Amino acid sequence: MTGSAPALDFPQIARRLVAWHRQHQREMPWRTGPAGDRDPYAAWVSEVMAQQTRLETVRDYFQRWMARFPTVEALAQADLQEVLKLWEGLGYYARARNLHRAAQLVVERHGGQLPASRQELLALPGIGEYTAGAILSMAFGQAEPLLDGNVKRVLSRLADLDRPIQEAATLRILWQLARELVQAGPPEQAGLVNEGLMELGSLVCTPKAPDCPACPLADLCLAAQRGTQALRPVTRPRRQTPHYQVTAAVIWQGEPYRSRLLIAQRPEEGMLGGLWEFPGGKLEPGDPDLAACLRREIQEELGLDIAVGGPVAQVKHAFSHFRITLHAFHARPLQGTPQAIGCADWRWVRLEELDAFPFPVTDQKIIQALRNGR
Ligand code: SF4
Repeated sequence: MTGSAPALDFPQIARRLVAWHRQHQREMPWRTGPAGDRDPYAAWVSEVMAQQTRLETVRDYFQRWMARFPTVEALAQADLQEVLKLWEGLGYYARARNLHRAAQLVVERHGGQLPASRQELLALPGIGEYTAGAILSMAFGQAEPLLDGNVKRVLSRLADLDRPIQEAATLRILWQLARELVQAGPPEQAGLVNEGLMELGSLVCTPKAPDCPACPLADLCLAAQRGTQALRPVTRPRRQTPHYQVTAAVIWQGEPYRSRLLIAQRPEEGMLGGLWEFPGGKLEPGDPDLAACLRREIQEELGLDIAVGGPVAQVKHAFSHFRITLHAFHARPLQGTPQAIGCADWRWVRLEELDAFPFPVTDQKIIQALRNGR
């Protein structure tokens, strides 16, 4: 196909999507009013939480979040550590830091009200084209498009796009299709069209097994007509995911021995920024073994010499672009006082005090192993 979007019956697709969504959508706590007239803050929080995360998982996090931070002002005034603690387990922690910072800017620049223009929304940290489209259509009833993984897949199949979805030219076509579709119905239904597209992608037009007989768009879908659903969207082959061996130390001290342990805070910039962890790091080619790796990492991060003891736990985890096996060991300090060299901060704490700090999922599993071992 060429570089332009194929002609589809957009008014009919929009009508059918709205009717289907009204009947089949899953109940979610943020879907309280008609899409197009929702609380902008709730729409924003739910859309950010739902990125890369299943809606069933988001549901509980959203309710806890809104109970603690019911307004933009409440979030703006909150301590970042508390914000991260409520986000604990959702992953992609930059989303929480950006929500917090953006809430402060919404208070400063817009009196606590989210702006109703794409340009002003895009000027806030963490709000990209997708989130802006979601807020504008769901909360302000504007016929603004959005594109997430589900929408890309459904539109690629409806239009039977035969070019790799990662290419800029394909993305332009997809944005054009999304815009024409959302503008094909009345503006007050724009939120329903967008939400219906995402819901159809989650429940019916799924990545591996689209249920075309159950799809309200089957007779309007070019891929279904041509039997190419399984070939759409076209993707470039993925590179193999790297797998790293990572070490972590549970460094004990105190009288009696093992009354307190050392935790370190990750630098605010970068992955898992601002969260706490058991210090350690990645096995490098020059490290003779895991214990040597751990001694080197603790020296580099905290300026501390340690003796490495027995294992605490082994945790496997997949991040978006790599996987790790985390090897956690008991350890004790030999000499030196901890210094924040490669971390933002450090603390000696008791096992019972760990719940007050936000930890990544991997370190929560280490904490569980420590508690089980008591
Ligand atoms: Fe997806 Fe099949 Fe529906 Fe086309 S007909 S949108 S491929 S579920």
